[in-house]
Amino acid sequence: MTIHAEASTETGAIGSLHAITAFEADTPPRPLLSDSTVLRISNALQSSLYVKDVIHAFTVEARRIVRRISLRYRNRGEGVAFQEGRLQLHRCTYELNLLGKSLGELTFMRSQPFSTDDQALIEVMLCALVYPLRNALMYERALKTALTDPLTGVHNRGSMEQHLEHQVLVAVRHNTPLSVLMIDIDYFKRINDTYGHVVGDAVLTEVAKAIVKCTRNSDVVFRYGGEEFAVILTNTRSAGAQLLAQRICNAVASGRIEVAGTQIPVTVSVGVAELAPGEGSIDLLERADKQLYRAKVRGRNQVVTPDD
Ligand code: GH3
Ligand code: MG
Ligand code: MG
Repeated sequence: MTIHAEASTETGAIGSLHAITAFEADTPPRPLLSDSTVLRISNALQSSLYVKDVIHAFTVEARRIVRRISLRYRNRGEGVAFQEGRLQLHRCTYELNLLGKSLGELTFMRSQPFSTDDQALIEVMLCALVYPLRNALMYERALKTALTDPLTGVHNRGSMEQHLEHQVLVAVRHNTPLSVLMIDIDYFKRINDTYGHVVGDAVLTEVAKAIVKCTRNSDVVFRYGGEEFAVILTNTRSAGAQLLAQRICNAVASGRIEVAGTQIPVTVSVGVAELAPGEGSIDLLERADKQLYRAKVRGRNQVVTPDD
């Protein structure tokens, strides 16, 4: 295990401190923290398998040992960044690596400079952090994989049922609107038959990308079935959902779907439904699906809402 440390001083100079290797140390280091403190820290760090909780627990423990510090954790590979406490002048940044794998970067901040003793204490605490942090990163990655459609990269159907049920509960509790789009590629069988399944798969990926591009960060896109997608729109009424649906319809139909240099004519039909009072997630999906069917009957490449 290596912890690569860099500390920035008041003047902004950055100097490499050292890299310590727990298993390679020539002489066992003099214990800086008592066994019971190390045990307490280890227990605190094992109380959750979520990265944010692990970093929070670490911050709580670290503040008991090195006073008035803030912490910032960044992991570019996982797209994770969060901060515990305010920005402060003096910083000490550690790149955490375990068995050659990056675990991200942890910055300690304080209004006073970090002494050598502070840094030694921090490094002992980091030794307790790396394994729980590695486990949390692995757990979150596994969760993400289980909830993602491998072909298109959007969420899969399994995660949709969970997500929609949760959003229905939130909408009812907070009395906020919730809408759903059901999107189906038109004559997709014909695309497969004309260009082959490999191109068909690429079209699915491109359509998913086009849908994601049209949506906001708060909207969640799912692959619902073979060539069907669903979008859950929190805090959105039917009129707003209809606008988004039309934007998706136009983006796909405008002929920007290109696979291996060939423009493939692709269109989608979209059904829209807004959660009605007393309705559950299954009824909401069924109503969106009914509108999708009407869009197909009306000639495809269009959006249909219950008011149409
Ligand atoms: P409609 O406009 O009525 O929706 O017609 P359609 O041809 O799109 O609908 P249909 O249900 O007849 O055909 C869907 C096709 O989607 C059939 C199936 O082989 C294909 N499909 C489903 N999943 C995949 C996939 O993962 N990859 C590829 N390439 N094709 C798929
Ligand atoms: Mg279909
Ligand atoms: Mg279809």
